[in-house]
Amino acid sequence: MKFGKVLLIGRPNVGKSTFLNNLIGQKVAITSPKPQTTRFPIRARYQDERGEIIFVDTPGILGKVKDPLSKNINRRTLQTINEDVDLVLYMIDHTRRRDFEEGKVLGLVRKIDKPKILVINKIDLEKKSYLPQYKFLEEEIKLVFPISSLERKHLKPLVDKIFELLPTKPHSATEGENIYPLLNLDAKTFIAELIREKVFLLMGEEIPYETTVIVDEIKERSDKLTYIKARILCSNDRYKKMLIGAGGRKIKEIGSYAKKEIALATSKKIYLDLKVETDPHWQETYYS
Ligand code: GDP
Ligand code: MG
Repeated sequence: MKFGKVLLIGRPNVGKSTFLNNLIGQKVAITSPKPQTTRFPIRARYQDERGEIIFVDTPGILGKVKDPLSKNINRRTLQTINEDVDLVLYMIDHTRRRDFEEGKVLGLVRKIDKPKILVINKIDLEKKSYLPQYKFLEEEIKLVFPISSLERKHLKPLVDKIFELLPTKPHSATEGENIYPLLNLDAKTFIAELIREKVFLLMGEEIPYETTVIVDEIKERSDKLTYIKARILCSNDRYKKMLIGAGGRKIKEIGSYAKKEIALATSKKIYLDLKVETDPHWQETYYS
Protein backbone atom coordinates (compact mmCIF):
# COMPACT_ATOMS: atom_id res chain seq x y z
CA MET A 1 0.00 0.00 0.00
CA LYS A 2 1.00 3.60 -0.55
CA PHE A 3 0.94 6.15 2.22
CA GLY A 4 2.23 9.66 2.38
CA LYS A 5 1.86 13.34 2.92
CA VAL A 6 1.55 15.78 0.06
CA LEU A 7 2.14 19.47 0.49
CA LEU A 8 -0.25 21.58 -1.54
CA ILE A 9 1.27 24.97 -2.16
CA GLY A 10 0.35 27.97 -4.27
CA ARG A 11 -0.69 31.61 -4.04
CA PRO A 12 -4.03 32.47 -2.48
CA ASN A 13 -6.81 31.87 -4.95
CA VAL A 14 -5.10 29.43 -7.31
CA GLY A 15 -7.69 26.83 -6.34
CA LYS A 16 -6.14 24.71 -3.57
CA SER A 17 -9.31 24.42 -1.50
CA THR A 18 -11.43 23.76 -4.56
CA PHE A 19 -9.04 21.02 -5.59
CA LEU A 20 -9.28 19.31 -2.20
CA ASN A 21 -13.02 19.73 -1.97
CA ASN A 22 -13.66 18.34 -5.42
CA LEU A 23 -11.13 15.56 -5.23
CA ILE A 24 -12.31 14.26 -1.93
CA GLY A 25 -15.88 14.70 -2.94
CA GLN A 26 -17.34 16.57 -0.03
CA LYS A 27 -16.45 19.87 1.57
CA VAL A 28 -13.31 19.15 3.53
CA ALA A 29 -12.61 21.11 6.60
CA ILE A 30 -8.97 21.84 6.77
CA THR A 31 -8.97 22.78 10.41
CA SER A 32 -10.16 21.59 13.77
CA PRO A 33 -13.36 22.39 15.66
CA LYS A 34 -11.51 24.50 18.17
CA PRO A 35 -10.47 27.95 16.98
CA GLN A 36 -8.71 28.55 20.29
CA THR A 37 -6.21 25.77 19.90
CA THR A 38 -2.99 26.77 18.31
CA ARG A 39 -2.69 23.78 16.03
CA PHE A 40 -5.26 22.88 13.42
CA PRO A 41 -5.63 19.28 12.35
CA ILE A 42 -5.75 18.68 8.64
CA ARG A 43 -8.69 16.69 7.44
CA ALA A 44 -7.92 16.33 3.80
CA ARG A 45 -7.40 12.62 3.55
CA TYR A 46 -7.85 10.82 0.24
CA GLN A 47 -8.26 7.08 0.41
CA ASP A 48 -8.80 4.34 -2.08
CA GLU A 49 -7.71 0.75 -2.61
CA ARG A 50 -4.17 1.88 -3.35
CA GLY A 51 -3.60 3.59 -0.03
CA GLU A 52 -3.91 6.99 1.54
CA ILE A 53 -2.85 10.50 0.64
CA ILE A 54 -2.83 13.17 3.33
CA PHE A 55 -3.03 16.59 1.72
CA VAL A 56 -1.51 19.41 3.67
CA ASP A 57 -3.00 22.73 2.64
CA THR A 58 -0.97 25.80 3.44
CA PRO A 59 -3.04 28.83 4.37
CA GLY A 60 -0.84 31.24 6.20
CA ILE A 61 2.52 30.02 5.03
CA LEU A 62 2.94 33.04 2.83
CA GLY A 63 0.82 35.45 4.75
CA LYS A 64 3.34 37.99 5.87
CA VAL A 65 4.67 40.37 3.34
CA LYS A 66 7.51 42.04 5.22
CA ASP A 67 10.75 40.31 4.64
CA PRO A 68 12.50 39.50 7.93
CA LEU A 69 9.40 37.76 9.17
CA SER A 70 8.65 35.87 6.00
CA LYS A 71 12.24 34.67 5.91
CA ASN A 72 11.83 33.39 9.40
CA ILE A 73 8.57 31.65 8.55
CA ASN A 74 10.10 30.15 5.48
CA ARG A 75 13.05 28.73 7.37
CA ARG A 76 10.86 27.07 9.97
CA THR A 77 8.43 25.92 7.33
CA LEU A 78 11.17 24.50 5.22
CA GLN A 79 12.58 22.42 8.01
CA THR A 80 9.21 20.93 8.85
CA ILE A 81 8.41 20.31 5.22
CA ASN A 82 11.61 18.47 4.61
CA GLU A 83 11.07 16.23 7.61
CA ASP A 84 7.40 15.68 7.08
CA VAL A 85 6.35 15.66 3.49
CA ASP A 86 6.83 13.10 0.71
CA LEU A 87 5.82 15.16 -2.27
CA VAL A 88 5.02 18.72 -3.28
CA LEU A 89 2.13 19.83 -5.46
CA TYR A 90 2.86 23.33 -6.67
CA MET A 91 -0.34 24.81 -8.04
CA ILE A 92 -0.48 27.78 -10.39
CA ASP A 93 -3.31 29.76 -11.93
CA HIS A 94 -2.50 30.54 -15.55
CA THR A 95 -5.24 33.16 -15.71
CA ARG A 96 -3.35 35.45 -13.38
CA ARG A 97 -0.07 37.06 -14.17
CA ARG A 98 3.06 36.09 -12.33
CA ASP A 99 3.76 38.50 -9.56
CA PHE A 100 5.75 39.15 -6.46
CA GLU A 101 3.81 36.64 -4.39
CA GLU A 102 4.23 33.93 -6.99
CA GLY A 103 7.93 34.62 -6.76
CA LYS A 104 7.80 33.98 -3.05
CA VAL A 105 5.98 30.70 -3.49
CA LEU A 106 8.43 29.58 -6.13
CA GLY A 107 11.33 30.58 -3.90
CA LEU A 108 9.96 28.31 -1.22
CA VAL A 109 9.22 25.48 -3.62
CA ARG A 110 12.75 25.62 -4.98
CA LYS A 111 14.18 25.13 -1.53
CA ILE A 112 12.20 21.99 -0.84
CA ASP A 113 14.16 18.88 -1.49
CA LYS A 114 11.32 16.52 -2.44
CA PRO A 115 9.74 15.29 -5.65
CA LYS A 116 7.55 17.99 -7.18
CA ILE A 117 4.56 18.14 -9.45
CA LEU A 118 3.50 21.32 -11.22
CA VAL A 119 -0.27 21.59 -11.36
CA ILE A 120 -1.68 24.09 -13.82
CA ASN A 121 -5.17 24.74 -12.57
CA LYS A 122 -8.22 26.36 -14.20
CA ILE A 123 -7.65 24.97 -17.69
CA ASP A 124 -11.38 25.35 -18.25
CA LEU A 125 -10.64 29.07 -18.58
CA GLU A 126 -8.94 29.50 -21.89
CA LYS A 127 -9.55 33.05 -22.91
CA LYS A 128 -7.20 35.03 -20.76
CA SER A 129 -4.04 33.08 -20.15
CA TYR A 130 -0.60 34.05 -18.94
CA LEU A 131 0.73 30.58 -19.55
CA PRO A 132 3.84 31.82 -21.41
CA GLN A 133 4.90 33.53 -18.17
CA TYR A 134 4.92 30.14 -16.47
CA LYS A 135 6.51 28.17 -19.30
CA PHE A 136 9.95 28.16 -17.68
CA LEU A 137 8.53 26.19 -14.77
CA GLU A 138 7.96 23.21 -17.01
CA GLU A 139 11.70 23.07 -17.58
CA GLU A 140 12.31 23.11 -13.89
CA ILE A 141 9.60 20.77 -12.74
CA LYS A 142 9.36 17.90 -15.14
CA LEU A 143 6.02 16.54 -14.03
CA VAL A 144 3.26 18.84 -15.24
CA PHE A 145 -0.47 18.22 -14.87
CA PRO A 146 -3.01 20.65 -16.32
CA ILE A 147 -6.33 20.29 -14.51
CA SER A 148 -9.60 21.99 -13.73
CA SER A 149 -10.38 21.64 -10.06
CA LEU A 150 -13.72 23.32 -10.51
CA GLU A 151 -14.89 20.99 -13.27
CA ARG A 152 -13.02 17.99 -11.88
CA LYS A 153 -11.10 17.57 -15.12
CA HIS A 154 -7.95 15.44 -15.38
CA LEU A 155 -7.81 14.79 -11.67
CA LYS A 156 -7.38 11.06 -12.15
CA PRO A 157 -3.99 11.05 -13.91
CA LEU A 158 -2.74 13.41 -11.23
CA VAL A 159 -3.85 11.15 -8.41
CA ASP A 160 -2.37 8.15 -10.20
CA LYS A 161 0.97 9.92 -10.40
CA ILE A 162 0.81 10.93 -6.73
CA PHE A 163 0.26 7.33 -5.68
CA GLU A 164 3.10 6.23 -7.92
CA LEU A 165 5.49 8.61 -6.18
CA LEU A 166 4.46 7.94 -2.60
CA PRO A 167 6.38 5.47 -0.47
CA THR A 168 5.11 1.94 -0.01
CA LYS A 169 4.34 1.04 3.57
CA PRO A 170 2.56 -1.84 5.23
CA HIS A 171 -0.01 0.41 6.87
CA SER A 172 -0.89 3.99 7.56
CA ALA A 173 1.18 5.75 10.14
CA THR A 174 -1.61 8.19 10.85
CA GLU A 175 -4.73 6.05 10.91
CA GLY A 176 -7.30 7.44 13.30
CA GLU A 177 -5.23 10.29 14.60
CA ASN A 178 -5.43 13.96 13.81
CA ILE A 179 -2.98 15.19 11.27
CA TYR A 180 -1.42 18.52 12.01
CA PRO A 181 -0.26 21.12 9.56
CA LEU A 182 3.28 22.19 9.11
CA LEU A 183 3.13 25.46 10.86
CA ASN A 184 2.10 26.03 14.39
CA LEU A 185 -0.18 28.80 13.25
CA ASP A 186 -2.23 30.42 15.91
CA ALA A 187 -5.94 30.85 15.37
CA LYS A 188 -5.72 34.58 14.80
CA THR A 189 -3.13 34.26 12.05
CA PHE A 190 -5.07 31.48 10.45
CA ILE A 191 -8.34 33.39 10.40
CA ALA A 192 -6.62 36.58 9.25
CA GLU A 193 -5.24 34.60 6.35
CA LEU A 194 -8.64 33.22 5.41
CA ILE A 195 -10.06 36.75 5.37
CA ARG A 196 -7.11 37.97 3.35
CA GLU A 197 -7.82 35.26 0.79
CA LYS A 198 -11.33 36.63 0.38
CA VAL A 199 -10.00 40.17 -0.09
CA PHE A 200 -7.87 38.68 -2.83
CA LEU A 201 -10.80 36.91 -4.34
CA LEU A 202 -13.12 39.89 -4.42
CA MET A 203 -10.86 42.84 -5.10
CA GLY A 204 -8.58 43.63 -7.99
CA GLU A 205 -4.97 42.60 -8.13
CA GLU A 206 -3.63 45.79 -6.66
CA ILE A 207 -5.44 46.04 -3.36
CA PRO A 208 -4.24 42.95 -1.52
CA TYR A 209 -0.71 44.34 -1.39
CA GLU A 210 -1.98 47.52 0.16
CA THR A 211 -3.90 45.76 2.89
CA THR A 212 -3.50 43.44 5.77
CA VAL A 213 -5.94 41.73 8.08
CA ILE A 214 -5.69 41.85 11.84
CA VAL A 215 -7.80 39.60 14.05
CA ASP A 216 -8.29 41.32 17.40
CA GLU A 217 -10.49 38.89 19.21
CA ILE A 218 -11.83 35.35 19.06
CA LYS A 219 -14.38 34.53 21.72
CA GLU A 220 -16.44 31.41 22.15
CA ARG A 221 -19.78 32.88 23.15
CA SER A 222 -21.32 29.45 23.54
CA ASP A 223 -20.74 25.88 22.42
CA LYS A 224 -22.01 26.78 19.02
CA LEU A 225 -21.29 30.44 18.44
CA THR A 226 -17.89 32.02 18.07
CA TYR A 227 -17.44 35.77 17.93
CA ILE A 228 -14.58 37.12 15.85
CA LYS A 229 -13.50 40.72 15.62
CA ALA A 230 -11.25 41.61 12.71
CA ARG A 231 -10.06 44.62 10.79
CA ILE A 232 -8.86 45.07 7.25
CA LEU A 233 -6.19 47.74 7.32
CA CYS A 234 -5.30 49.64 4.20
CA SER A 235 -2.81 52.33 3.43
CA ASN A 236 -5.13 55.11 2.27
CA ASP A 237 -8.73 56.28 2.14
CA ARG A 238 -9.11 55.54 -1.53
CA TYR A 239 -8.55 51.83 -0.84
CA LYS A 240 -10.81 52.00 2.17
CA LYS A 241 -13.61 53.29 -0.02
CA MET A 242 -13.06 50.52 -2.54
CA LEU A 243 -13.01 47.87 0.15
CA ILE A 244 -16.24 49.10 1.68
CA GLY A 245 -17.91 49.48 -1.70
CA ALA A 246 -21.16 51.23 -2.57
CA GLY A 247 -23.53 50.95 0.35
CA GLY A 248 -21.07 48.68 2.15
CA ARG A 249 -21.65 45.92 -0.34
CA LYS A 250 -18.03 44.91 -0.86
CA ILE A 251 -17.12 44.52 2.77
CA LYS A 252 -20.34 42.60 3.35
CA GLU A 253 -19.44 40.24 0.56
CA ILE A 254 -15.90 39.74 1.84
CA GLY A 255 -17.28 39.12 5.32
CA SER A 256 -19.86 36.66 4.15
CA TYR A 257 -17.38 34.56 2.16
CA ALA A 258 -14.90 34.62 5.02
CA LYS A 259 -17.57 33.70 7.53
CA LYS A 260 -18.63 30.69 5.50
CA GLU A 261 -15.11 29.36 5.27
CA ILE A 262 -14.34 29.94 8.93
CA ALA A 263 -17.60 28.22 9.87
CA LEU A 264 -16.69 25.27 7.69
CA ALA A 265 -13.24 25.09 9.16
CA THR A 266 -14.37 25.28 12.75
CA SER A 267 -17.79 23.59 12.65
CA LYS A 268 -19.20 26.59 14.53
CA LYS A 269 -21.58 29.38 13.82
CA ILE A 270 -19.52 32.49 13.37
CA TYR A 271 -20.36 36.05 14.17
CA LEU A 272 -17.82 38.07 12.23
CA ASP A 273 -17.41 41.70 13.15
CA LEU A 274 -15.36 42.99 10.23
CA LYS A 275 -14.33 46.60 9.65
CA VAL A 276 -12.10 48.51 7.28
CA GLU A 277 -9.63 51.07 8.64
CA THR A 278 -7.07 53.34 7.09
CA ASP A 279 -3.66 53.04 8.68
CA PRO A 280 -0.82 54.33 6.51
CA HIS A 281 1.68 52.81 8.92
CA TRP A 282 0.35 49.27 9.16
CA GLN A 283 3.48 47.79 7.65
CA GLU A 284 5.73 49.28 10.32
CA THR A 285 3.24 48.67 13.10
CA TYR A 286 2.56 45.01 12.42
CA TYR A 287 5.45 43.66 10.43
CA SER A 288 8.69 45.04 11.71
P1 GDP B 1 -7.17 28.76 -2.70
O1 GDP B 1 -7.03 30.14 -2.10
O2 GDP B 1 -5.93 28.38 -3.43
O3 GDP B 1 -7.64 27.73 -1.73
O4 GDP B 1 -8.30 28.91 -3.86
P2 GDP B 1 -9.84 28.50 -3.84
O5 GDP B 1 -10.00 27.03 -3.94
O6 GDP B 1 -10.51 29.20 -2.71
O7 GDP B 1 -10.33 29.08 -5.24
C1 GDP B 1 -10.26 30.45 -5.54
C2 GDP B 1 -11.24 30.78 -6.66
O8 GDP B 1 -10.88 30.13 -7.87
C3 GDP B 1 -12.66 30.32 -6.35
O9 GDP B 1 -13.54 31.31 -6.83
C4 GDP B 1 -12.80 29.04 -7.15
O10 GDP B 1 -14.14 28.78 -7.53
C5 GDP B 1 -11.94 29.33 -8.37
N1 GDP B 1 -11.42 28.10 -8.98
C6 GDP B 1 -10.71 27.14 -8.37
N2 GDP B 1 -10.38 26.16 -9.24
C7 GDP B 1 -10.89 26.51 -10.44
C8 GDP B 1 -10.88 25.93 -11.76
O11 GDP B 1 -10.36 24.85 -12.02
N3 GDP B 1 -11.50 26.64 -12.75
C9 GDP B 1 -12.11 27.84 -12.52
N4 GDP B 1 -12.70 28.44 -13.55
N5 GDP B 1 -12.14 28.41 -11.30
C10 GDP B 1 -11.54 27.76 -10.27
MG1 MG C 1 -7.89 27.88 0.38
